[in-house]
Amino acid sequence: MVVLKTPSNKMFKKTKYIWYNGRFLKWDDAKVHITTHALHYASLVFEGIRAYKTKKDVAIFRGRDHIKRLFESAKIFLMDIEKDAGYTQEDILEAIKQLLKKNEIKEAYIRPIVFRDYTDAGDRWGFLGLNPLRCKVSVAIITFEFPPFGAPNFKLVTVPYIRPNPMSLPMMAKASANYLISQLASIYATYINTLAEKAGYLRKEGDSLIESFEGLLVDDNGFITEGPGENIFMVKDGIIYTPPVSSQILRGITRDSVMKILEYMGYKVVERNILLSELYIADEVFMTGTAAEIKPVVEIDFRPIGNGKPGEITRKVMEFFHRVVRGEVEEFEHWLDYVD
Ligand code: PMP
Repeated sequence: MVVLKTPSNKMFKKTKYIWYNGRFLKWDDAKVHITTHALHYASLVFEGIRAYKTKKDVAIFRGRDHIKRLFESAKIFLMDIEKDAGYTQEDILEAIKQLLKKNEIKEAYIRPIVFRDYTDAGDRWGFLGLNPLRCKVSVAIITFEFPPFGAPNFKLVTVPYIRPNPMSLPMMAKASANYLISQLASIYATYINTLAEKAGYLRKEGDSLIESFEGLLVDDNGFITEGPGENIFMVKDGIIYTPPVSSQILRGITRDSVMKILEYMGYKVVERNILLSELYIADEVFMTGTAAEIKPVVEIDFRPIGNGKPGEITRKVMEFFHRVVRGEVEEFEHWLDYVD
């Protein structure tokens, strides 16, 4: 077995507390039972949110939009968070704020999960059948300090897994089952990365790699969709293009932020299907996601994009986005929820 090298193995350090069904449990006590439905049948939806240190205070970036998407993902799988678990969207936002404060985190990754839990039936019959409707719906929230995410630039490689058809899996929901495909894509890209690093194919600055491979998923019509955890954009002749939501992508909140920022900066943004070959001959390509933020793509399937370095519009939008998340652009300050 090849020892795979991911660009960064650092993901999180333990924090003091995890929020689980309204209680702040110590990190080591936040456990689930082995018969938990979600563990067997992937009956879980989740979110990935970031909070940033700003001049005023720690601020959650587009927390309300993420929580709304969480409730919508749950609805697709017939989980009504308010009725089944007893929490409103405001309750979840408040819980996140309290958790960030209790854990004293400044630059945070926030992971709320909603899942079909174990139902303690005592001596009565328990339930572990396929139909999940009898299982208790639980909500938990994890937060941790977030280290820089991967190498600064991406090289993409098309993976041999097709993004599922809309009637196979609802990719619009941020559901754990969908991430099995993302995992296969990530493993594939990591293999390529390991071999590329061994071959001296990845550029370095000092001892640090400044690029790493990421997977790209195509749909059953040959249109590009997204990465394992990022949406994708291309620039051609000054216009910015991105696949539409109907192309089986996650409705990325960073995607939405970037589209609004680009329009504010005066660029034209078009949502339309994009062929893989179009991407090869784009002037610039970049990816967006909560964890990845905005990542320049410098190569796709071994073809350099532009001059093989981050493009001009990409650099401009990255710079603007970083000011937005830190509350430095008044126009977009409504996207921030201050913890205090
Ligand atoms: N696509 C997938 C499959 C993802 O997992 C993510 C990360 N949540 C994204 C796109 C980007 O979405 P967002 O900007 O909301 O994080």
